[in-house]
Amino acid sequence: MTHRVSSYVAGQWHTPTGENGLRVTDPTNGEVIALVNAEDVDVDAAVTTARTEGGPALRAMTFHERALLLKKLAKHLAAQADELVGGYTRSGVTVADARIDVDGGTQVLAAYARIGLKEFPADNVLVEDEAQPLIGNPNFVGQIIYTSRPGVALHINAFNFPMWGMLEKLATSFLAGMPSIIKPASQTSHLAEAVFRRIVESGILPEGTVQFIAGHPRGLLDGLGVGDHIAVTGSARTAATLRTHPAVAERGAVLNAEADSVNATILGTDAGRGTDEFALFAKSIVREMTSRSGQKCTAIRRVLVPSQHVDAVVEELTARLGKVVVGDPRTEGVHMGPLVSATQRADVAAAVRELSGGARIVVGGPDAPAAPEGAAEENGFFAPTLLVATDRRHPAVHGVEAFGPVATVIPFDSPQEAAELAALGEGSLVASVVSNDGGFIRDVVRSIAPWHGRVLVLNREIARGATPHGAVLPQLIHGGPGRAGGGEELGGKRGVLHLMQATSVASSANMNVALTDRWNPGADQLDPGVHPFRLYLEDLRLGDTLHTGRRTMTEEDVQHFAEFTGDTFYAHVNEEAAAASPIFEGRVAHGYFILAAAAGLFVDPEPGPVLANFGLENLRFVQPVYFGDEIKLRLTAKHKSMRAGTGWGEVTWNVEVTNQRDEIVATYDLLTINASKNA
Ligand code: NDP
Repeated sequence: MTHRVSSYVAGQWHTPTGENGLRVTDPTNGEVIALVNAEDVDVDAAVTTARTEGGPALRAMTFHERALLLKKLAKHLAAQADELVGGYTRSGVTVADARIDVDGGTQVLAAYARIGLKEFPADNVLVEDEAQPLIGNPNFVGQIIYTSRPGVALHINAFNFPMWGMLEKLATSFLAGMPSIIKPASQTSHLAEAVFRRIVESGILPEGTVQFIAGHPRGLLDGLGVGDHIAVTGSARTAATLRTHPAVAERGAVLNAEADSVNATILGTDAGRGTDEFALFAKSIVREMTSRSGQKCTAIRRVLVPSQHVDAVVEELTARLGKVVVGDPRTEGVHMGPLVSATQRADVAAAVRELSGGARIVVGGPDAPAAPEGAAEENGFFAPTLLVATDRRHPAVHGVEAFGPVATVIPFDSPQEAAELAALGEGSLVASVVSNDGGFIRDVVRSIAPWHGRVLVLNREIARGATPHGAVLPQLIHGGPGRAGGGEELGGKRGVLHLMQATSVASSANMNVALTDRWNPGADQLDPGVHPFRLYLEDLRLGDTLHTGRRTMTEEDVQHFAEFTGDTFYAHVNEEAAAASPIFEGRVAHGYFILAAAAGLFVDPEPGPVLANFGLENLRFVQPVYFGDEIKLRLTAKHKSMRAGTGWGEVTWNVEVTNQRDEIVATYDLLTINASKNA
């Protein structure tokens, strides 16, 4: 019986009835494997559930609490990876390609769990950098804060990576505090559904924070507007349609588009046949052309080669492509399966015919036999196809994306020309540059960077350690300018901040402390009545301050410090050289001695709530300390946080060291571990 792909809305599964809808077929043998129809799905209910249940539940959690749930979910899905991979074979996908989707999906969740725990606070608001005094008034400060948008994140995904595509968008939205409504591409919605069922069954994510609509429902964007976010991965045509939808154009929903892209790889002039880079280049092209049958938005479409190396490259690629076994992915030894459908095959054939306007086919082509024996008449098989440009600036060569195992070799005569040709793609997701010549890399990467979201530089040093051209990593940007959609996903912390609202708040220094839970130098200094190191986390107030006594920095001290530590830099031990330097008027105290002497002034020696010091941040030596100068300091509690599940937390202290004229000589933040009363 044909599987009916269900949707999950408002805590209920909805399975389509009737016979209308898209019939998804196995692109090898033409068997119908799934029926997709969202006619009866209540989109309004999904939006209302996300707004009234999912959003409030997520916003009540801290970033760390959200990250811990993502971590749990990553583990839960990773434990079922083999089972999930097994579901792909009827969709024309090889086991290796299915693994990339499944493992990549769990890895992106785990990576964002780590990013959430390490780079975000145990709070639901992110405070950026330091409060800045405005118009020269330390009591009037400005600060940027990031808060969760109050709306819904609608995820419209592409067919080629049903699991990874779903989870990479889910991870960032969840961490950003936005509930998700996921709309997979109909063609592979049965694979996305299998993952989503496991998410629901796990019960890990709070109800309403994730919902799933398979198919093409009416009015998908009609309830969206300001505060909502739409992330679409798909063709430039779909991105353009959504850009003009009233939800975006009139009501202010934010649209992030990841569209198609004619990505380039560029060979260095140094990298002729026989070099490691030449071999890396050829291997990378064949891999990108054939993995997922070339149905990857990041795959290599344009192969830019120095004119003198074109013949060698074409010869090498022809030989390597000749060894690619195309066939039923269930058969042992098959490297590449069919395209996702017979329709996709027809689209790719039409694209190759268009490319032929500026290039000649040297391997494969639309008429080359590719289907194995026994394949259905209407199948998705397409032979790996290589073209060589006859007109290196022809618009089709740089503008037509054949979403299959197709690439075109294009010659260039100088690094500048290579960069110009790459730019004719009018904005791409990724380019790779393969060379062992630092000068070539510098020239080309700096020139092409404005046209790309990501660049991979390959040379012999990372022949083994690097990820492939097409691999999208959570730490790296996925997106690109212009034709690539102009959007940006992932990129570590950036991928979460894109989904949040940045607001700059200008206020008095004291109100800034109340808002951000961070003391700033314009705010009140409080007298704790005791040494602040004697206070447990709960009792310490932001602003609690210690003013120390003075210490004179003598020549003997500095000489002793130099001999004791071995730091005999001229400025501390050579009067003549120090006086002759453009920076100093004579010998000065070591910066490290100032820090050590400062600790001697502020420390409270008895064991107590301050357990350890774990570093300094933002250290600046502002002006020299000469022999006979007296230093003193102010130490103020700036920020405190508990470590969940422990009896202790972290305190940041702002320290300002001044001289006898009250001029600042050094500033820094001191980091300590402090005990809780309940430890
Ligand atoms: P489409 O643009 O046709 O479909 C992509 C998604 O958009 C699908 O979920 C589709 O739903 C949905 N969609 C289409 N029209 C609308 C609409 N009017 N309103 C709401 N949703 C809509 O792309 P293809 O499936 O043809 O995928 C291939 C293309 O996607 C290629 O051009 C490729 O470059 C690009 N792509 C880009 C990627 C990237 O990361 N930048 C990744 C993968 C592909 P349904 O399936 O139900 O029609």
